[in-house]
This record gives sequence, C-alpha cells and structure tokens, in this order.
Amino acid sequence: MAYLQIENLQVNYGAIKAVQGVSFQVEKGEIVTLIGANGAGKTSIMNTISGLIKPAGGTVSFDGKDITGHKAHTIVKGGLALCPEGRKIFPRFTTYENLKMGGYTSSPEAINRGIERAAELFPRLKERFNQVAGTLSGGEQQMLAVGRALMSEPKLLMLDEPSLGLAPIVVQELFECFTKINKEGTTILLVEQNASMALDISDRGYVVENGKINISGTGKELANNDKVREAYLGGL
Ligand code: ATP
Repeated sequence: MAYLQIENLQVNYGAIKAVQGVSFQVEKGEIVTLIGANGAGKTSIMNTISGLIKPAGGTVSFDGKDITGHKAHTIVKGGLALCPEGRKIFPRFTTYENLKMGGYTSSPEAINRGIERAAELFPRLKERFNQVAGTLSGGEQQMLAVGRALMSEPKLLMLDEPSLGLAPIVVQELFECFTKINKEGTTILLVEQNASMALDISDRGYVVENGKINISGTGKELANNDKVREAYLGGL
C-alpha cells in the first residue's frame, strides 16, 4: 500500500456529488499535485483527508493505517497537516501566536522547534513575529499559514492553493520553500491552479475534473500533455 492511499473517495453536500469515486496515491518523499478547474472537487478531497469532512464513501489510509472519518486532531497527531485554501490565519492574533496555535497537539519542545523552523524558512516572518497577522501582506500570510501547518512536524503536508492571489515573485519564493521542505523529508500533496509551477516541482500529478480523476502522470508528462496544456497551461 502507498504512503497515502485514497480509494474510491466520494463526497456529497446534500444532493451535490462533489467527489465521485476518486483514487490516487502519494508515496513517501514525493511531491504530488492535484490540478483542476474551480469546483472540480480538489478542496473537498483535501478537507476529507484532513478529517474536516466525512466522506460518503471510500477510504483514506496513511502510513499503513485506515484513517477514514477520523477526527481532524487525531489526523494531525498521526502526521498529516493541512495548510488550507484562503490561509485561514487568525487576523487579530500576532504571527507568533498564530504559529503557536498550529502546535496545539505538540509538546512545548516541538513548539520551540517549530517556531525556529518557521523563522529559518521565512526570515520575513521572523521580523514580524509580534505583528498582528491581519496586517501582514498576502504573501506573508501565506508563509504564516505554511509555517503554522508545519508546527505539528507533519510527515505529509497538504497545501491547498498556496499561490492564490499572490504576485509571481512571491509564488516563486514559496515554491522554492516547498522544494526545500520536501528535501528535508516532508512528503507534499499540493492543490494548485497555477499548474505550470506546480507540475514543475512535482514528481507526479493528477487532473481532477467534475469530481473524478481523468488524467495522471509524472509532472513532465502532464506538462507535455495536450489536454492539460490547453485546459490548464493556457495553451502554452
Ligand atoms: P476551487 O478551486 O474553486 O476551490 P475545488 O476544485 O477545490 O474548487 P471544491 O471546493 O471541492 O472544488 O467544490 C466542489 C463542488 O462542491 C463545487 O460544485 C462546490 O460548489 C461544491 N461544494 C463545496 N463545498 C460545499 C458546501 N459546503 N456545500 C455545498 N456545496 C459545496
């Protein structure tokens, strides 16, 4: 079985079938990307893996254990952390306090390690530890969201649309960080509309369309796939 194994996952919101039998795998050490248009079901998949939504069917297994339907805090403790779409930082709290909240399942020593790691990965955040997070720039808020997700020292980090609304130079910086985090031993599952940059750093990827996976391949294969180029790479 793969490190993260998703089998026939189904997510419904009332009568809406948002995810209709999705299966995919992430192996230990990989960066894997899910690309797809708005409303394809990517966030629903990430939220279900994280325990925020209960699936209508299918299974999620991580590191040899079936974690389907487990509570979110149990899943964090098991080594999976989500950096959610839209960052979801706590705007009235400082950068430092936001980071500490990411360590809500961690020991004081692990919290200290996490704070140091965030400071090392994102020197700009370190300079702003005492700033109220709502006044950070969009890029800084995204760095904070990533730093906060890393506080639980996850084995697998899930990043949902980290590039949303950010300037290309900031996106470049963030993606370099993701590669670094991965090289330091964290497996990454990434959801992105910025398909070009995402596929560039990914070992493999899947295309999600209307709640289903229709195309899969290595990052290179997908970047060269005619359908993917036309639909997600602006026909480049
Ligand atoms: P985006 O890139 O725009 O975030 P996505 O691929 O992440 O899109 P989802 O957010 O998973 O897609 O949404 C999949 C489908 O489920 C959409 O049709 C959406 O309207 C619907 N949906 C998502 N959340 C809810 C909800 N809480 N209640 C009802 N429908 C929902």
